[in-house]
Amino acid sequence: MRHYIGIDLGTTNSAICSFDGKETRIWKSPDQSDVTPSAIYIDRKGHRFYGRKAFELASVNEKNAATLFKRYLGTSRTYQLADSGVSLNPVECSAQLLGVLFGYLPEEIRNDPDTVTVITVPAAFNQMKKDATLEAARLAGIGRTALMQEPVAAVMSVLKKDDSEKRFLIYDLGGGTFDVSVAQLTGGHVSLLAQGGREMCGGRDMDRWIFSHRILPWLKEQFDLPENMMEDPKYQAVRRIALFAAEEAKIALSSAESADIWRDEDTLQTKDESGKPMYLELTLTREDMQGIVCSMAEETVDLALETLQRAGISASAANQIVFIGGPTMYAPLREEVCRLLGIEKGTTVNPMTAVAEGAAIYAETINWEDERHQRKESYDEMKAGEEIQIRYEKRTSSPQGKIAVIVPDGAMRVVRIMSAEGTGKYDSGRVSIVRHGILSIPLPEPGNYRFTLTIEDAEGRPCMEPVTLELTRTLASIQSIPASH
Ligand code: ADP
Ligand code: MG
Repeated sequence: MRHYIGIDLGTTNSAICSFDGKETRIWKSPDQSDVTPSAIYIDRKGHRFYGRKAFELASVNEKNAATLFKRYLGTSRTYQLADSGVSLNPVECSAQLLGVLFGYLPEEIRNDPDTVTVITVPAAFNQMKKDATLEAARLAGIGRTALMQEPVAAVMSVLKKDDSEKRFLIYDLGGGTFDVSVAQLTGGHVSLLAQGGREMCGGRDMDRWIFSHRILPWLKEQFDLPENMMEDPKYQAVRRIALFAAEEAKIALSSAESADIWRDEDTLQTKDESGKPMYLELTLTREDMQGIVCSMAEETVDLALETLQRAGISASAANQIVFIGGPTMYAPLREEVCRLLGIEKGTTVNPMTAVAEGAAIYAETINWEDERHQRKESYDEMKAGEEIQIRYEKRTSSPQGKIAVIVPDGAMRVVRIMSAEGTGKYDSGRVSIVRHGILSIPLPEPGNYRFTLTIEDAEGRPCMEPVTLELTRTLASIQSIPASH
């Protein structure tokens, strides 16, 4: 069986998902998290750390870490990691992270030459950045790879649950960027109508806000600090640790009404101007967050409205909002965005993993045999006997497959379709047709089906050799999306 892999290679966090034609599965990191921070840390001895551990070490010793490398794909920037002397470019960083994610898959899937992978990229990625992403995949040695756009992947993940016709607003708020897209689903096909957004707007702004509006005033109250505390190298460690604690508390607030920001003297290892050892001991509440949440909601909704306008539709015509990205885990932000837009409440996809999941589902729809990675053919046509024509939809998201049989001579024929040996129990019985007929066959759930079709004349004599029809019921299908280079 072929395995389809989807990878969300994110600026802050990445995730990997597999799809076998029926079920998707998110492969967790060794610390049991659905997502892996996109971070690399190399210590003095050359030991390499990835993911959560690298992210934590980076907050203490930034100069040994490579983070945010997705942002610099397609540029000449390099990361000089101080203590080890190692230098890495963004493509190499991405390749290493892809290797780490791929390593979460069981050996049978990883080593199977049939395994194929789709990596997602922002809708705004230019050709150089896309090429750099494919180069990273090649360097990582993960086999055949194609790219797709993140918002389309998010929609694919929604369609897994509900494929009623809709217009979607995909609201993706990440660590440092906001991406908004408008997509439409018609006849089982997704197309992107418009996209927009802004760099430098995301979860990190919330962390900085917590630092400057809550932690800093608290510190100034407790300790004797200089005016230039924000620039003074003596307080660098305090600033860094406090920012890290701010993020931790923000994340905790997604599932609690309040969260403690707590670090002891041993952790901060800094004395104030009067020699008093510094510590952090304050509580952050949802109420504290109201200001930043409202201003982020307003800023992003303005961009969303602009994008809807470019797509030529009003906010009320977008029937559903799909929330993607870590900060959208925070319910008060989602509610405020919905309220401002006047759109029905968001979907229930997991904002952290939906993109990887959609990519895995998409991977199944690609014709990997074709160099250009076009979509699989959805129709097939064959001739049986001398003149009988058979046409059918090979791939459909519908629970009914349709088979058309055309007999030009106008004589009566008897058609019968049955599940191929060992693949099920369906039997259409003997169906008489004159000139042409369309038979519906059941495809109760997603997956591959094989049927045998026989045609006899009115006297019961076979008109041809039985033929085998192969049909796939897909989860969803998409249109006019460039799959890869
Ligand atoms: P990206 O798309 O940039 O790779 P993510 O979508 O993973 O990143 O978003 C990263 C941001 O989400 C970070 O600022 C992180 O603090 C924040 N985040 C992660 N989980 C949560 C949560 N449960 N609640 C609030 N914010 C979160
Ligand atoms: Mg993302």
